[in-house]
Amino acid sequence: GCITSAESVLITLQSHIEVLNILETNTDRAPVISISPQSLASLAASISTPSSPITPRQVLRRIRTFCLNVLGFSHVFDTTFARHMALQEHIREFLERKKDAKLPMLASACPGWICYAEKTHAEMLPFIASTKSPQQIMGTLVKNWMAMKWKKLPHEIYHVSVMPCYDKKLEASRQDFFNDVYSTRDVDCVITTGELELMMREKNFDLAGFVPGELDHPDSFEDAYFPELITHPGSSSGSYLQTILDYIRQTSPVPLTLSVQTMRNADYEEYILRKSNEGEIVFKGAKCYGFRNLQNVVRKVGKESGVRVGSGAAGRLAGPRRGAALRRGVKGNATNSGGQDSRYDYVEVMACPGGCVNGGGQLKSRYTPRVPRGDEKDAEGFLRHWAESGVATSPESEFDPTSGIAAKWGDKEWTRQVEASYWSGVDSTLSLSTPSLEPSVP
Ligand code: SF4
Repeated sequence: GCITSAESVLITLQSHIEVLNILETNTDRAPVISISPQSLASLAASISTPSSPITPRQVLRRIRTFCLNVLGFSHVFDTTFARHMALQEHIREFLERKKDAKLPMLASACPGWICYAEKTHAEMLPFIASTKSPQQIMGTLVKNWMAMKWKKLPHEIYHVSVMPCYDKKLEASRQDFFNDVYSTRDVDCVITTGELELMMREKNFDLAGFVPGELDHPDSFEDAYFPELITHPGSSSGSYLQTILDYIRQTSPVPLTLSVQTMRNADYEEYILRKSNEGEIVFKGAKCYGFRNLQNVVRKVGKESGVRVGSGAAGRLAGPRRGAALRRGVKGNATNSGGQDSRYDYVEVMACPGGCVNGGGQLKSRYTPRVPRGDEKDAEGFLRHWAESGVATSPESEFDPTSGIAAKWGDKEWTRQVEASYWSGVDSTLSLSTPSLEPSVP
């Protein structure tokens, strides 16, 4: 209910029809497509049976064949590497906010949640991280980093992304991600998993059929059967909370114990890290999926931080106002001392029940019933079934070998170079932060 009619137009404009038109008529721009791991998982589930699972990696090979040979894209990427960058940047931002006593931090990867907060809970904006979502980091990588490698300017690339939901279309059309100098967006057009599948059907491409070379490098047992997306708790939307928990545990000088408590349902869980010997809380986080849970978390965060919840309808609280609110509203949670009422340090917030695997743009699987929105218990069952069938996404799916992109992030020089440039700060074109969500000093 938070989409305006102007935004509906923005969503409608980005469709598989637009992609086909551009591919047919446009000769000036290099067409590039990036596919999310959640989309690969959904497509894999749609053509698998329990006795004959198709892995997302196989699906990526088939989609690559479709996109390169049938549609005429010049490059096919998988957003897994961008997700890796997003997780690293998220940890960096979390540590910075913790140092400045500006917690809790709320996740920023779900445009459904951001849209809701901006329109009805502007008082929550100071708490929302500014880290770009994996889709938008991929946009930055393609339009800046890859463009440089290909000796092209950003507007000389047409970048399509395949995502699990329609809200990603809105995210791509934010002013934040428009390059004024070259009059181009980091992601030109977003299509859903369902729209990609529709294109395959329209072009008579059978995703269930093998493509040459598909089995040349069979997936390892671990990749196929213990995929990160499923085995990490709370990670069906991307492992944000899990990555922060892992980081704190790995860098703690003393042993820590993790306890997990289900709150109202499986989509709202609290994760508490305590010092193993004395029980002192060092971190308290939560995973919160679905609007019903989200409203509870908004109330809790508002109460703990002394901001008036629900007062913030209307408008953006950006720039200096956001910075001022951050200083005024956030009372410093960095020294969380424990107890039942201790505040959250971090919340992974996602609008869809069950997270992104259940996004509105995903496919209905032939073998796993579609999870009805709002039915959190079924969402868990869906994920379990998926994991048991061995049909989930792999964390390190390959990039397109024809363009020399890493098969696994870290494997190839390209990904090492991107990371080195970003973390050393030498490449200012690699901005991983959303301008309007950055707290600024007046
Ligand atoms: Fe989209 Fe839902 Fe994922 Fe949010 S949780 S990014 S709305 S699929």
